[in-house]
Amino acid sequence: MSNISVTHADSGLVLTSVKRTQRVTPHMIRVTFSGGDLDRFAYKGFDQWFRLAIPVHDGDRFDNLPSRFGFGGLLKFLTLPKGTRPMIRNYTIRQFDDESGELDVDFVVHGTTGVAGTWAASVEPGGPVAFIDQGCGWAPVPAKRTLIVADESGLPAALGVLRDMPRDAVGDAIIELFDERDKQDVEAPEEMNVHWAIRDPEATPGTVALPALRELPLSDSLYAFTVGESALATGARRYLVGERGIPKSNVTFCGYWRIGKASPS
Ligand SMILES: Cc1cc2nc3c(=O)[nH]c(=O)nc-3n(C[C@H](O)[C@H](O)[C@H](O)COP(=O)(O)OP(=O)(O)OC[C@H]3O[C@@H](n4cnc5c(N)ncnc54)[C@H](O)[C@@H]3O)c2cc1C
Repeated sequence: MSNISVTHADSGLVLTSVKRTQRVTPHMIRVTFSGGDLDRFAYKGFDQWFRLAIPVHDGDRFDNLPSRFGFGGLLKFLTLPKGTRPMIRNYTIRQFDDESGELDVDFVVHGTTGVAGTWAASVEPGGPVAFIDQGCGWAPVPAKRTLIVADESGLPAALGVLRDMPRDAVGDAIIELFDERDKQDVEAPEEMNVHWAIRDPEATPGTVALPALRELPLSDSLYAFTVGESALATGARRYLVGERGIPKSNVTFCGYWRIGKASPS
C-alpha cells in the first residue's frame, strides 16, 4: 500500500550499465552505474526512485521498453515477448555525482530468493540495465516537526531525505535494521534526532520501530514519511492517523516490500 504520487519524468527510458559494485555493509551492496543515457538524467535528490529493468534471460532487451510506466507503459511492457523481457523492481537513488555522472543504488541482499538482491550480489562491471525515473515520494507539507520511519529497504530513502531536507528541520528519524553493522553515516540537520532501532534478524520488520514510535513526543503539527516492509509502513501510518490524529494528508507512506511476496512484474 502506498499514497506516493508517481511522476513521469522527462528523462524517459534511461539505458546505462554497471561500473562497479561494493559491499558497503554486510547486507547492503552498492551498485554504481555510469555511461549511456545518464548524461541526460535529471537528479532530484531526496528519495528519488525508479523502475529498474534487470536482465534475467540471455535475450533480454532494453531498447523496446516503454519510456513511462503508467497504465499504457505497463501494458506495453506486459505484451513484450517473454524471453526478451527483463524484470522490473523499484529502487531509490542513493546518490548521484554530477561531475563523474555516477549513480549509486544500495540493494539489500536478502538471501537467495528474488531477482534484484541476487543480481546485485553477482553482477559484473559492464552489465546492462535500464530504468524509468518515477520522481520523489517525499512530499512534505508545512509542519513544525518531521518524522521519518524506515527499515533497511528504506535506508537509502531515509538517508537521502535527511541529507537533502532543509537544515533547520526539527524532528525524528527511526531507522530499523536487522543488523547493527548495516548502519551508514548520516548527514542530518542538527535538530533531526536519528534513532537506530535494531530488531532480531528473525523478527518481523516494525517489531522495534513501531514501539519506538509510540515513545516519541510528537507534535500535532507533523509531517511523516514512513517506508519499508508493508506492515511497518502502514503500521506507522495507522498509529499516527488513528491514534494521534495526524491528518492523512500529512503522512506519506509506502510499503516497499511484503514478507513472502515477490514484487509484481
Ligand atoms: C519506491 C521504492 C523504493 C525502494 N528502494 C529500495 C532501495 O533503495 N533498496 C532496497 O534494497 N530496496 C528498495 N525497495 C524495495 C525493493 O523494491 C523490494 O525489496 C523488492 O522486492 C526486491 O526485489 P527482489 O527481486 O530482490 O525480491 P522479490 O522477487 O520482490 O521477492 C522475493 C522474496 O524476497 C522477499 N523480499 C523482498 N525484499 C526483501 C527485503 N528487503 N528483505 C527481506 N526479504 C525481502 C519477498 O518477501 C519475497 O518473499 C524499494 C521499493 C520501493 C517501492
